[in-house]
Amino acid sequence: MRKRGFLVILSAPSGAGKSTICRKLLRLQKNLKYSVSATTRPARPGEKEGKHYHFVSPAEFKKRIRQRYFLEWARVHDRYYGTPRKFVEQWTRKGYNVLLAIDVKGALNIRKKYPDCILIFVLPPALRSLKERLLKRKDDRDSVHKRLLAARKEMKAIPRYDYAVVNDDLRRAINQIQAILTTESLKTHRGNYV
Ligand code: ADP
Ligand code: 5GP
Repeated sequence: MRKRGFLVILSAPSGAGKSTICRKLLRLQKNLKYSVSATTRPARPGEKEGKHYHFVSPAEFKKRIRQRYFLEWARVHDRYYGTPRKFVEQWTRKGYNVLLAIDVKGALNIRKKYPDCILIFVLPPALRSLKERLLKRKDDRDSVHKRLLAARKEMKAIPRYDYAVVNDDLRRAINQIQAILTTESLKTHRGNYV
């Protein structure tokens, strides 16, 4: 029987480059599936329904919470975000690893349910570059301010993660994450040698 896949969780202060890293990583790792979260926030320019997020109303999100549709959910920057349970379970059962780009609260909740998941924290080279990247992405100033405050708080959780990768040079960051995935897949407890 095929071995179950594992969960790879990327967290990062908003603007650190998590989405960019995920996009590139998914092209390189054929055994990796991306978990598309549901959110109540509006789509940003260029974001597509079902690809970046499932954009839902607050009422629909609440209904899904009641239906236990989410593996975890959290309120982040005044909006709701949640990971669909079925997607994660279906693909890991088939032997695929599943990539989740979620916040610190969500990551630590998932670890309670899946102790062998891998937690990777992506850091910006400096908080100043974070601000520049958020402005470049055309986030409004209020949202940039909120996200910078949150970044300081989120970075306190780094010691609870397995790995920290600095996204200074994008290619190097991707290479480092690929090295982590290779190493993790070779761990004896994952039993991929039988
Ligand atoms: P997040 O998903 O973490 O909020 P994004 O992936 O949207 O962040 O990246 C925010 C901005 O920073 C984007 O404009 C992206 O192109 C840019 N960016 C990502 N990685 C790097 C990098 N290593 N160097 C410079 N700019 C980057
Ligand atoms: P953004 O609005 O910038 O896409 O995401 C804001 C934050 O919400 C990021 O830290 C992102 O990782 C997090 N996030 C996205 N989807 C989920 C999810 O399903 N669950 C949790 N807990 N956080 C999420």
